[in-house]
Amino acid sequence: MLNSDKSQKYPKARRVTWIGLIINVGLISFKVLAGILGHSAALIADAVHSVSDLISDALVLVGLKISARPIDETHPYGHGRVETIVAFLVGLILGLVGIGIGFKAINIMIQGVSYTPRLIALLAALTSIVVKEWLYHYTIRVSRWTNSPSLRANAWHHRSDAFSSIATALGVGGAMLNPQWVILDPLVACLVAVFVVETSGKITWRAFLELVDTSVNQETRDQIEQAAKTVPGVIGLHKLKTRHVGSEIFVDVHIEVDPQITVTEGHNIATRLKNFILQQVNNIAEVTVHVEPEGDSLSQVKQYL
Ligand SMILES: [Zn+2]
Ligand SMILES: [Zn+2]
Repeated sequence: MLNSDKSQKYPKARRVTWIGLIINVGLISFKVLAGILGHSAALIADAVHSVSDLISDALVLVGLKISARPIDETHPYGHGRVETIVAFLVGLILGLVGIGIGFKAINIMIQGVSYTPRLIALLAALTSIVVKEWLYHYTIRVSRWTNSPSLRANAWHHRSDAFSSIATALGVGGAMLNPQWVILDPLVACLVAVFVVETSGKITWRAFLELVDTSVNQETRDQIEQAAKTVPGVIGLHKLKTRHVGSEIFVDVHIEVDPQITVTEGHNIATRLKNFILQQVNNIAEVTVHVEPEGDSLSQVKQYL
């Protein structure tokens, strides 16, 4: 897929997040109701947890709105980093959620489970599994298309919720068959806690790496180099620097050209190179090209300096 139209990205990203938020409000109401009617403390606790879902959704919406702002005088690289910060925060929230699930599970195991769950509580948990897993797939698809880090983080939050509802469903469902099986809830919840904390770690770490200007992956760097080398007039290439700014990538590169050509010709080669990379590689926002004569002794001393 070539560069998707930037103007279409924001509405799509905002839409999937709003849908997630509305569904979350619906799920919370359903869980509270089902928890009260079905006498399930686990479901009510689950609903209280869901407040963190709403905070995540709201953060993502604010981040998307700010990051969609165009480049201006004081933000020459755009506002994309706001989205990365949001991804970082969503990851942290998820970490707290995971720790909460773990503590709750341990607590239940120590103190014992005292609720007598009913069918409506099981239905609420099952609904939550299906809906949240669907939300995960929908959101992760849009996050791939928009290359949005905050949507990716929120998608993983949805999936974590689906997993924690599996624990609730097993606990509630198990208890309906045999009261002793209620222990399934805290046991599975412990596994879910580990999964959620691990997911949170991945999300925050990835956001952190982008915030400290880690270069894009080797595959994308190779793509850029391959594209650059096929441009007529480009003899050599070095000091390829890349970084993420939100959903976009900024590229700096030095190219070597024939020392005898004119400045105009050199500039034309640089422009061709820039346009070709923009066309060939996904999610590139800008390519800054430094042109120098082939064999310049200073140029090749250190590749990355
Ligand atoms: Zn959640
Ligand atoms: Zn150079």
